Amino acid sequence: MYHSVEFEGYESTNVSEDNVPIGSLDYLSTKYESLDYEVIENELYCKEEENKGYRYVVQKDFSRWMTFFWIGVIVACVGIIIYIGIEVGTNFKFNIIKKYFDESTLQNNGMLKPYLVALILNSVPSVIGSYLIVYVEPMAKGSGIPAVKCFLNGIKVPRLIRLKTLIVKVIGVISAILGGLWGGKEGPMIHAGAIIAAGISQGKSTTFNKDLGALNFFREDHEKRDFVSGGAAAGIAAAFGAPVGGLLFSLEEGASFWNQALTWRIFFGSMISMFTLYSVLSAYHGHPGDLTYRGLLNFGKFDDLSYHILDIPIFIFMGILGGLTGALFCHLNLKLVKFRKRYVDTNWKKVLEVLIICSATVTTSFLLILWTNDCKKLGIDPTEYPIQFECKDGEFNVMAALWFQLLEGAVRSLFHDPPVDFSGGVLIPGLCTGAAWGRLVGLGVLNIFPNTNIGIYSLIGAASQLGGITRMTISLTIILVEATGSITFGLPLMICLMTAKWVGDFFSESIYESQIQMSGMPLLAWDPPPLSSNTYAKHFMTHPVITFKMIESVENIVKILKTYTHNGFPVIEYVQNNELGNNYEKCYLRGLILRSQLIVLLQKKIFDRPLTNYWDSVTVDIFREDYPRYSSIEDIELIQNDLKLTINLSKYMNPSPYVVQHTMSMPRVFKLFRAMGLRHIVVINDSNEVAGIVTRKDLARYKVKSHMGKISVNELKLSNK
Ligand code: ATP
Repeated sequence: MYHSVEFEGYESTNVSEDNVPIGSLDYLSTKYESLDYEVIENELYCKEEENKGYRYVVQKDFSRWMTFFWIGVIVACVGIIIYIGIEVGTNFKFNIIKKYFDESTLQNNGMLKPYLVALILNSVPSVIGSYLIVYVEPMAKGSGIPAVKCFLNGIKVPRLIRLKTLIVKVIGVISAILGGLWGGKEGPMIHAGAIIAAGISQGKSTTFNKDLGALNFFREDHEKRDFVSGGAAAGIAAAFGAPVGGLLFSLEEGASFWNQALTWRIFFGSMISMFTLYSVLSAYHGHPGDLTYRGLLNFGKFDDLSYHILDIPIFIFMGILGGLTGALFCHLNLKLVKFRKRYVDTNWKKVLEVLIICSATVTTSFLLILWTNDCKKLGIDPTEYPIQFECKDGEFNVMAALWFQLLEGAVRSLFHDPPVDFSGGVLIPGLCTGAAWGRLVGLGVLNIFPNTNIGIYSLIGAASQLGGITRMTISLTIILVEATGSITFGLPLMICLMTAKWVGDFFSESIYESQIQMSGMPLLAWDPPPLSSNTYAKHFMTHPVITFKMIESVENIVKILKTYTHNGFPVIEYVQNNELGNNYEKCYLRGLILRSQLIVLLQKKIFDRPLTNYWDSVTVDIFREDYPRYSSIEDIELIQNDLKLTINLSKYMNPSPYVVQHTMSMPRVFKLFRAMGLRHIVVINDSNEVAGIVTRKDLARYKVKSHMGKISVNELKLSNK
């Protein structure tokens, strides 16, 4: 018999609903599990610590620093591969298309041939990229920022940090950009950084089935989380040339845990990443030893970023505009995602969708090139990709050049081109859209004040737009300050980003937030729901609780693990009680055991075997061997005799789990859970017996919604979807 501890007076919690409408934001998916940040200080752990001594502490610390160093180097190398891949591919594409353009212009035989060639050259990489993402590793889609944010929040996102995901991501980014799709390599660099960090820090690759036998002391969720924070930061450092921005991104967007030493190490890794990228790309461009090459996203050099106090109200106005357009963008994006979930529901349709978008982009670009025959002299503002088309000798077609320039080049042109020249994932598209309308505002101001520097308006527009979409504040300010190299411009950036966030938050959630909600991931907010001090643990805990006894039969363990999907089980002991003459059993908490621990014990058949010294050969390392992918209970084969044996769980369980009284208020439970990065909190009643259990999903269910100034708390449903 297994144990389900039940008391009168608590409502039984009913979990899981199945009929969640497509695109709903009001549910939490039970398929996402949590990471385990707790160090299990059981007998085995103490045995290990006793034997290690201080030398081990120094060695572990040194390995940490070295790991951050290598994370920085390898993240930069991946950035370089993406950069060079895109450059080589674009040059190849340009040379072929230019040949057809020149030929058609010379022979005056229309644009059909160059158009078809461009269509093929864009469609092939787009289809390759989308095929890989759809059929090989869907986790590599998009920027990956929302998923990395969830991982840092403590959610185990399946396949997020695998090598296969990294490979598909790198090929996918290069193909998408070569295919002319609207996107950049900056968001994906954050995800790539996270994967590299998680991989290097473990000293093994499950994909290649290779274990170096090193760094096994980092095979724990809390260690991995710290490295992943560093990897994401190193990704930003390489992408934007912004190491402090990267550090702040990890802090602002995720990190559930932070301390001084970790900050310092993440900063070190980011710096290494940035300078490795600078030095290699400088050498690639023929200036070895010169570290002046900027990050992957190069904003170009702003000669003049001076502004006047009277510009500030205009910047605030632009922040408001960015907030409004950002909220509208998020709203439309949500509608589009719902539409796609409903109608683009099979793999081949997804690939076809990419092909259609790619063809539409090429067609629109060609129509623009044909209709706006905008020419510019070759010498004045050299472009890397001059196509003469119908321009005079010594001139090139501006639209054609812009089309080849990729989005980042377009952003740069919007920042720096003199006012007369222009007649016309979310990071880079957001920057690009904002830079365009910012420039329009600048042109308007230029009409009134002739000395206006419209480049700064473009920059403020870009920042406001991106702020309105992502609602990032501190990190985005610093990323843009570092990318432009001007600290004096920090104040206007901060003002417009803050305004954009406040205005955007008034109308909708950020794009990342709504993507996370739609996927049903149980993200824990920074703060508990407001006005929740009257809600107590007994109101939101799960009751009855499935538990184990200290000495449990193998048969029972297998039965429970097969019946329930839970990952943590209180271990209890029944004690005979004789208070006031009433003779009854009390169930006291003795510890908490994880499903993964039980799986290892069953798989390795570590059962109580009297008269043997089996205990001597058991070490903590046996639990690290299979980390992080443990078998499922269905895969474990046991013979009839095994089932008759017992396991003394007290040797393996966490003997001191976090426990709260059933009368503890929600804000206090929430803060404890969030601050300590917990996975399970056991709730006890007035007589210290196990009354309930609280996990991430019980807390994340209370979702604060703020719309048009009105705040409400929604209770989300749990779903098996
Ligand atoms: P996580 O999914 O966060 O890794 P978990 O798998 O242990 O943790 P879930 O199964 O996801 O927890 O939790 C789903 C619901 O089941 C929650 O409401 C939680 O309170 C409840 N629950 C978790 N463990 C137990 C248990 N041992 N007995 C009864 N209910 C539990």
